[in-house]
Amino acid sequence: MQRKANILTVLILAGVVLGVLIGHFILWDPGLMLLDPAERSERIQQNTGWWHAAGDFILMRPLKLIAMPLIFTSVLIGVTGVGDPKRLGVLGGATLVFYLATMIFAVTLGVTLGATLKPGDGVSEDLRAAAATVGEQHLGQRGLDDPGQQDLGSAWRQILELMIPDNFVGAIVNEHFLSIITVTIVMGIGLLIAGPRGRPFIAVVESLHEALMILVRALLWIMPLGVMFLVAWSVGSMGLANLAGALGKYAGIVALGLGIHMFVTLPLVLWLVGRVNPYKYMWQMRPALFTAFGTASSMATLPVTIESATNLGGCSKRSAGIVLPLGATVNMDGTALYQGIAVIFMFQAFGYDLHFAQYLAIVLTATLAAVGAAGIPAGGLVTTIIIISAVNSTLAAGDPTIPALPLAAAIGLILPVDRILDMCRTSVNIWGDATGARIITRLAPDDVEEKEKAFS
Ligand code: ASP
Repeated sequence: MQRKANILTVLILAGVVLGVLIGHFILWDPGLMLLDPAERSERIQQNTGWWHAAGDFILMRPLKLIAMPLIFTSVLIGVTGVGDPKRLGVLGGATLVFYLATMIFAVTLGVTLGATLKPGDGVSEDLRAAAATVGEQHLGQRGLDDPGQQDLGSAWRQILELMIPDNFVGAIVNEHFLSIITVTIVMGIGLLIAGPRGRPFIAVVESLHEALMILVRALLWIMPLGVMFLVAWSVGSMGLANLAGALGKYAGIVALGLGIHMFVTLPLVLWLVGRVNPYKYMWQMRPALFTAFGTASSMATLPVTIESATNLGGCSKRSAGIVLPLGATVNMDGTALYQGIAVIFMFQAFGYDLHFAQYLAIVLTATLAAVGAAGIPAGGLVTTIIIISAVNSTLAAGDPTIPALPLAAAIGLILPVDRILDMCRTSVNIWGDATGARIITRLAPDDVEEKEKAFS
């Protein structure tokens, strides 16, 4: 198994490197920088669209296809495996506390780095002007030109609506993963209470789960190719040249924050609370971390995260089954950290003076915005709007004459480097989930005997 995993790692790494080379040398055309922003994005689409489509067909779509039923099977197996609803409550509570604490820590680190290293100082007038056109186009395409829908109150409401759905089939059709998780947990508790009469259904779900995992393992071998296409597309449509200058400084600070969280903070927590060698575990989780980097989607990565955690990383099925699907939907340390820095960058770039009240607003709302972000590419970019509107209102509360930050220009400013940062923050998101699963394994080891008891 170890040998296969090593071969796969080499292949995926080769996919990443090849993707960067193809993207930079073949797909990216430096002449594009001379065009106006609207024409540039059209030309980029022409040059690279095909590569994105190939990655989508080879990797993203199959993974997402498997993720949906896998959430159902793994959460159900996890819940019924734990057996006792009271223990389930403890486990769920511990998971949520862990997720919330690490996210708050991540965003605080992001805000500290943003406030001290000042990524937004030195953004030129030209860059701001170009950003407005790009941002308007982007928000228009995504139907986000009415920022009123993205305020704090509606964000809470949306999360609650997802947690308490009124139509299970609707939740599946609309890919509301959080709804699917809550429904499955409740269903699992029902099956536990049903005792022996619940058993046949669980046996069916267990065999479906096995079949899905076999498919995931097969899919892993196509991954290097899919990753190559997606990385080539992202480098080819961004242009590594964008990583120089003001945007480069911003991207560098986000990368620094993500690096500290990934290689220092979470390993420390894992070592202290989980009592495992964190770097060894990180190495075991490499297929999932690479998939996250290639796809920029926690949700598409979920099947591989579950596979790596249970097969290589020593997590129990019970813990991984519940903690990982929940993590892929609500736990986003990397996103929270990035949002903290991104929002500070935007305000600084447009010459606003931020103080403690605004930093506090960012910490509080970024945590919520990260919970609410979908585990899909650029999911976190969209919910950044919630934080911007919260900061705008704290600024206006201090001085009503301060105009609101121009939303389209602010979003447009960070767009050119957003995909590459998305790839990095998604890897950190997955690492956060994996850390949770390993720690919770201590609370919920797989214990066959106990399960037998629950159904006798
Ligand atoms: N792409 C991220 C994820 O799937 C979310 C984000 O955009 O930050 O985890």
